Amino acid sequence: MFEVQNQPPPLEGYNLLHSDTVLREAVRREGADWAEGRLGALGQEVGSAETIALGFAANRHPPELKTFDRFGHRIDEVEFHPAWHSLMTIALKAGLHSSPWADPKRGAHVARAAGCYMLGQIESGVLCPLAMTYGSVPTIGLNRAVATEWLPRIFSRYYDPRFRPAREKTSALVGMAMTENQGGSDLRTNTTRAERSEDGSFRLTGHKWFMSAPMCDAFLVLAQAPNGISCFLMPRWNPDNTRNAIRINRLKDKLGNKSNASSEVEFEGAFAQLVGEEGRGIQTIIEMANFTRLDCSIGSSSLMRQALAQAVHHARHRTAFQRKLIDQPLMTNVLADLTLESEAAAILTFRLARAYDDETEEATVFRRVVTPAAKFWICKRAPFVTLEAMEVLGGSGYIEDSIMPRLYRETPVNSIWEGSGNVMCLDVLRAIERTPRAAEVLAAELELDGEPRLRPFLDRLSQRLSAPDRHDEAQARALVRDLVLALQAVLLVKHAPAGVADAFCASRIGTDAGAAFGLLPRGIDVRAIVDRAAPQN
Ligand SMILES: Cc1cc2nc3c(=O)[nH]c(=O)nc-3n(C[C@H](O)[C@H](O)[C@H](O)COP(=O)(O)OP(=O)(O)OC[C@H]3O[C@@H](n4cnc5c(N)ncnc54)[C@H](O)[C@@H]3O)c2cc1C
Repeated sequence: MFEVQNQPPPLEGYNLLHSDTVLREAVRREGADWAEGRLGALGQEVGSAETIALGFAANRHPPELKTFDRFGHRIDEVEFHPAWHSLMTIALKAGLHSSPWADPKRGAHVARAAGCYMLGQIESGVLCPLAMTYGSVPTIGLNRAVATEWLPRIFSRYYDPRFRPAREKTSALVGMAMTENQGGSDLRTNTTRAERSEDGSFRLTGHKWFMSAPMCDAFLVLAQAPNGISCFLMPRWNPDNTRNAIRINRLKDKLGNKSNASSEVEFEGAFAQLVGEEGRGIQTIIEMANFTRLDCSIGSSSLMRQALAQAVHHARHRTAFQRKLIDQPLMTNVLADLTLESEAAAILTFRLARAYDDETEEATVFRRVVTPAAKFWICKRAPFVTLEAMEVLGGSGYIEDSIMPRLYRETPVNSIWEGSGNVMCLDVLRAIERTPRAAEVLAAELELDGEPRLRPFLDRLSQRLSAPDRHDEAQARALVRDLVLALQAVLLVKHAPAGVADAFCASRIGTDAGAAFGLLPRGIDVRAIVDRAAPQN
């Protein structure tokens, strides 16, 4: 038997808040300083060996569809591994599904974002039902009767995994069902029909090609009503305590996101209640999508942070050619470059989360434009970061036990769901065009005195944002990428150490950033950048 040598200790038993300088600074800067105590407790809990093991178990044992019971009755239930339920218990206890609505205060959305950012590093499948429930609240609020019945359950922090009518449970979760087989981006193609019943409720008939977290207690669903596409709340149980006519045809066999279930469903005259104005369903549900899109940026930033933490941890302990990997100049360059991407993603994500805490007109405009922009670029960068970070661990990074394959497989989904990359970029163009004061609010955000490195880039960007060719759809990705890089650069200049901001500008602003990491130019203190990212345990 060989002796195990030159292997790092497992990265566990560490506090995901206290060991993360960038996160700690963001929580304080963006107004959630009051939450540091409870976030620290959550950081400790999710960084424990026990919670990390739950994350592995929930992914090793994916959910299973039980279409019928043993007697042949249709039950349409999905069974999850106990580890999933334990993770959901942690999440709800921390309020990650609804705390900013249940207990509104300065920094509440930022505090929740920080909690999701930490939990998502250990297991990100659970973020899906948490994001949808969080996002559903303003939409549900549009129907007073529905809100009175559902919001108290949604605000509860006692997770209840039982498949029972919501009124018998200690809490409720909400999913959403928009995408149909013939079209997801173009929701006007929805064919599910909604017919009004005598009591004012509706019966929905049709299908959804994607409906994630099908064991949620209710779903916001789009369907064609007599006056056009409308938004409905569809519970899994009828008011008379029978199962609603929601048939789960099958679970998707996904690339990643294994712990979470995503299903194909049919509605056979399923009971539902109208939410928002009949005929304005897309506008109604898009309100929810803003929040879930913010959560895509949180989720991707979180995956990048975990990949980076694992990579830096490994490099600090592993020796090759008589030196620690972290001391090999080329590896230090790679790690520093990864750190810049992770820190830039986090700094913009938490700035954006703060805009959700702020009801000023400027904040509303900012989140309208920057939510889809950040989702596009941050989610696009995440697969590359997790891929490069995997390689830092060498062959072991390719092995499931290391967590790196799971992080890598998870990343593409954030770019696809809640509006894919192109759709996000076209939405940014629309937002800039149609939102009064958009140009002014962006200009104020990008205002920097005496920044010679950034000035030409910012000036050119501002010209492009106001020139007629901003309507050029084919150039939308280029424009949105540059907008996000500018926002990230300005935030780093204002809030990060000078070395981090300098390196970000030198490698990403006005230059064609390379197709790999580790291309930082000479003259940067790469070691200082990496040390800032090291997770201490
Ligand atoms: C794991 C998973 C879970 C999901 N869960 C849910 C869920 O719970 N509820 C739900 O409703 N949906 C869910 N979805 C569906 C998801 O939101 C859609 O897949 C997504 O919005 C894209 O729609 P689509 O698949 O129909 O692709 P399409 O709309 O056909 O788009 C295909 C491609 O074309 C691009 N495109 C579209 N229009 C344009 C244009 N005008 N110009 C340029 N490019 C364009 C898109 O960006 C995309 O890249 C889930 C998806 C996945 C992968």
